[in-house]
Amino acid sequence: MTDARVVLFTLGGTISMSGGAGGAVARLGGQELVSGLNGFGDDVQVQVRDLRRVPSADLTFDDVLDVVAAADEAVTAGATGIVLTQGTDTLEESSFLIDAVWSHELPLVVTGAMRNPTLPGADGSANLLAAVRVAASPAARGRGALVAFNDEIHAAVRVRKTHSTSTATFASPDTGPVGHVVEGEARFLVPATASRPVIGWSRESLRATRIGLHTAVFDDDGSALAGAEDRYDGLVVAGFGVGHVPGAMAPLLGDLAAQMPVVLSSRTGAGPVLAHTYGAPGSERDLLSRGLVSGGFLHPYKARVLLHLLVAAKKSRAEITTAVAQFGDEH
Ligand code: ASP
Repeated sequence: MTDARVVLFTLGGTISMSGGAGGAVARLGGQELVSGLNGFGDDVQVQVRDLRRVPSADLTFDDVLDVVAAADEAVTAGATGIVLTQGTDTLEESSFLIDAVWSHELPLVVTGAMRNPTLPGADGSANLLAAVRVAASPAARGRGALVAFNDEIHAAVRVRKTHSTSTATFASPDTGPVGHVVEGEARFLVPATASRPVIGWSRESLRATRIGLHTAVFDDDGSALAGAEDRYDGLVVAGFGVGHVPGAMAPLLGDLAAQMPVVLSSRTGAGPVLAHTYGAPGSERDLLSRGLVSGGFLHPYKARVLLHLLVAAKKSRAEITTAVAQFGDEH
């Protein structure tokens, strides 16, 4: 087998944390994570680059796009796969952001840990090992950004953090994992799908873009959206069930949709927004007829990341509808 050259980027998170009187903080660099870790295989070289040591709640679009830029350079310099370690809290969004802009056939695999290295049963080393094996695998090519965790491989577009403490927290409720790491080998169960990176944004336009996320709640009067047209350039609505809001809120969302792109998604965490079923004010049919864009199967957190890129890239309403449908339903 040809030698795999994997570059490991680190951003911090629990996988790199150790405790003290004041609680665990990100201290360890990539070299410490890989030292003493056997099993990458003689066929795999791992090179380490530490970028940040932060909890993932602090990560920004810029931090994640710095990883993408550094990974682009690493690929140009001959890397055959990329691994990123970071905190798990925002991993479902950051891995999707990477997926939405990643333009290479080569895999970029994100992982982390739920138990820090000082705890019994720490999962970081097993997750890192699995991520490196996936990144080194030719079978992982053409699949965009992946998440390797708990010996499962997930597509970044579908994966979610589903539990606050479980080591089995990452799941893809709509599809299940795309593969598994078995005896150190990445085994994929579904074919790769074509990737469609979003282009046309710049760092400056991303920094200038504000996308809101409004979750519909019981007895929601919509007052949290007052002045949204002045605060946001785009909005994601996480509606009830198949994409519903209280009927009284529908005109407000229609008004907003006339001024900015408004994506309709489901707050349930799995399953799609419907299009043709319910007809009451505030139903999916009503909201879509008022100009909201269907988010399909796209989770609201991911829809917000995608809309941020699309608005920053100055895409037209038609282009936004097509791009959201591609990630929401076809990806
Ligand atoms: N709070 C941590 C973080 O996201 C949690 C983790 O890494 O699992 O950085």
